[in-house]
Amino acid sequence: MSTFLSPREILDKLVGFPTVSRDSNLPLVDWVEEYLAGHGIEAHRWTDPDQPHKAALFAHVGPWQEGAVVLSGHTDVVPVDGQNWSSDPFTVTERDGKLFGRGTADMKGYDALAIWALVEAQRSGVKRPLQLALSFDEELGCTGAPPMIQAMQPVLPKGRAVIVGEPSMLRAVTGHKGGQGLHTHVIGHEVHSSMLHKGVNAIMASAPLIQWVNDTNAANMAKDPAPLAAMFDPPFTTAHIGVISGGTAHNITAKDCEFGVSFRVVPGEDPQKYLEAYTARVREVEADMQAIHPDARIELTPWFRVPALTPEEEGAAEALVRQLTGDNASHVVSYGTEAGQFQEAGYSAVVCGPGDIAQAHQPDEFITLAQFEAGQDFMARLVARLQEEN
Ligand SMILES: [Zn+2]
Repeated sequence: MSTFLSPREILDKLVGFPTVSRDSNLPLVDWVEEYLAGHGIEAHRWTDPDQPHKAALFAHVGPWQEGAVVLSGHTDVVPVDGQNWSSDPFTVTERDGKLFGRGTADMKGYDALAIWALVEAQRSGVKRPLQLALSFDEELGCTGAPPMIQAMQPVLPKGRAVIVGEPSMLRAVTGHKGGQGLHTHVIGHEVHSSMLHKGVNAIMASAPLIQWVNDTNAANMAKDPAPLAAMFDPPFTTAHIGVISGGTAHNITAKDCEFGVSFRVVPGEDPQKYLEAYTARVREVEADMQAIHPDARIELTPWFRVPALTPEEEGAAEALVRQLTGDNASHVVSYGTEAGQFQEAGYSAVVCGPGDIAQAHQPDEFITLAQFEAGQDFMARLVARLQEEN
């Protein structure tokens, strides 16, 4: 019989694995698998054939039947490169009522509580099932969850209500914007800049596309928001370019310019319409470039896609979380999560986890002890509910 670890002990273990998204998460997954196995819980893995150094893990506890509550978290964390930390980011350090460490808020705090809850459910013997789903590559644009959700379906009985534990201060978040990104590679034609009329400068050709992004934001800002959009801050879809690179020298027309355009789309709006409008502008700019030199072109590559979380009418996940937290207000957030992906796959889904998103991705990331303990109470109430018949 294995020892029962406290949520805090599990958190110490999880934070100790430096599962930055670019690196392997297998040591963490191995540990979770072994810990669950020690308590008689069989875990299943999904490994990305293109990234054999990463795996998702899912498990089921309780009667082998549909209708489980699914606790969903991601195992990866953002890098600490260039950040100034007061203590080792990969060791949980307690100071002033706070637990510091990379991922304590986003979201190994919740992962630890979920693992604890699964073992508690197994130990106490629940009448209704509980599932755990731990993904990877969330911080790279939520790319790990969709194949994990697909892989879960034939292996586990279908779950009903998914609680995605991104930090929400344990409030029930029922809506978030969707995200969609397109990578743009503008390929120009190099000449000496003294002869620029014969060349195509990829940087200068990008300017109208960047202007399209500005114009799109201005137009959306000027609109009266639809009721679903009005819940958000800002209450409209936004477009953004966060990184751009290009050019060789001040006296050469730039051969290349690359940037990503990302959209945060309010529920109720079709992300596709933004992609199509942007693509149409790209093709106009490309035609202007090719009028100067036929080799010039613009390549668009899909980058990421995270569906919005749309508030559900009488959603099972929302109702459950409201019962567990007593929070009856409506909350939406402007960041994307895996909840929209579970919802798209037919699950009822809500975001609710301990900690504050304001601490996510920061140097000296922390979760307060009070939030972590409130998270444990939340899980204890959940396990108690699962011990009741329906
Ligand atoms: Zn997160």
